[in-house]
Amino acid sequence: MTTAAELIEFDAPTRRFLAKKIIERCGLNMDAPEFRAVIEAEHKEMITTGGVRAGKSTSAAAKLYVSIYMYAAILKAGGLYWIIGPDYWQARVEYGYIRAWAEAHHIFIESSQPVDGGWVLTLANGVTVETKSALHPERLGSVAPRAVLVVEAGQCTEDIRNICVERTMENAAPIYYSGTLEDDEQHATWAWYAELAEEWTNEPSEEHGSYGLPSWTNTSIYGSCLAAISQSPSLAAYCPDDDHGTAHSGELHPTIAQARFIMEPREFDRRIAGKPGSLAFKIYPSLETHNRLIPFEGGPQLYAYGGIDYGTEHASALAAVTYHPRIGVELGDTDYREDAWVREVAYNDVDPGDTKWIRDTKVYLERKWKIPGAYWRYDPNEKYMARREGGEAVSGTAGSRDYRMGLCKGRINSDTIFYDSEGPGVPRAYKEAISMRKYKRKDGKMILSRVLEDGQSAIEDAIEGSDGMLRVPPPAKLRVRRQFKRRRPSELKHV
Ligand SMILES: [Zn+2]
Repeated sequence: MTTAAELIEFDAPTRRFLAKKIIERCGLNMDAPEFRAVIEAEHKEMITTGGVRAGKSTSAAAKLYVSIYMYAAILKAGGLYWIIGPDYWQARVEYGYIRAWAEAHHIFIESSQPVDGGWVLTLANGVTVETKSALHPERLGSVAPRAVLVVEAGQCTEDIRNICVERTMENAAPIYYSGTLEDDEQHATWAWYAELAEEWTNEPSEEHGSYGLPSWTNTSIYGSCLAAISQSPSLAAYCPDDDHGTAHSGELHPTIAQARFIMEPREFDRRIAGKPGSLAFKIYPSLETHNRLIPFEGGPQLYAYGGIDYGTEHASALAAVTYHPRIGVELGDTDYREDAWVREVAYNDVDPGDTKWIRDTKVYLERKWKIPGAYWRYDPNEKYMARREGGEAVSGTAGSRDYRMGLCKGRINSDTIFYDSEGPGVPRAYKEAISMRKYKRKDGKMILSRVLEDGQSAIEDAIEGSDGMLRVPPPAKLRVRRQFKRRRPSELKHV
């Protein structure tokens, strides 16, 4: 009898051969290269982002079924499988496919399908398939599954992913996530899903991979143009020629061609091609096209602000920003009367929670750059203070971050902020600012991606100090004259 250990000894070509046979026995074919890639992929965690009507339920069920069939019919080794949905109902379509295939392949024993709650499919040789609801994570029990399928994963929170990762550690079991980036019902999609999909598409590894399943790979719909053009004859205008039939399949299908014509490219990529990358919007796009990381060349320092970003998972960072008269610019030319120069950004990567380091670094920057105590900004202020007092951390609101980014963007776009290329830590912060991105969620909400941006975040805090709605007596920015004699910055601030 074959044991589980022997499966591991199957080499990759054998595993692929078996998978292909199983898929064919399910009545599917692997003609579409995108679908074949999904079936053959082997990662600890993998995402399949489908275009609308890409047949993603079938392919997700098929992906899990390859393993189910191997254990129930070939290895006879047993094991537990989970299908997790945003709720119980949404996991039932994939369950239905697997049940039907199992019946056809004579490995079906029984199925329990209560109206409410989870369904349990019992198969030959001790294989069990259970549906689970993301609404009841506590029911993701302690028995370690052999593999997990998360359907409509974009509608589940990241907590579900964390639980899955935890539960699959014991068996080194794979997790398959499936779902659209944007669907017909306009469901909101959680940012983690789109972000990981993009990350894993660009940088696949043994651990992670992400695959796009375009709508047109669904040959039952897009295998031929005949049905579509008989239903709405005007679609034929989108056919490449008069050779209607299977020649106009896949990407050449008139419905797809029409969508490509009508939709914005970004929308087409997301909804039809199932491509995650196009979800991202750079926060500060002009930093890439117009370099602001240059050696310091500002005039006399008028005043300075400090920003503190208290990191928990990432680094803590403190930024010093100094302000200098704009040379050769008449008041009224821009909203800004001074240039802001990012002079120094200090990071603590080793122990971000070290508040003593934060205090010491603050004092150091305060003296070096002449930043008065009232000219420091914390984000979120309460979080840092709370930590210092030993309390619980609270999170800043998304809106306040948007506001700060808007202030920074204003300066970047009017060329009134520069990054001192020789300032300690400043090039790193500049790099962060360039790579900062946002995602548009289906509900229209823009979600900040989770790239590292602690330094830039501290800079934004400082900029809010100078440019934002003021909570302390304002600096004397309206009284600046060019002919100042050398005065100490502390005097200038209170002119
Ligand atoms: Zn045609």
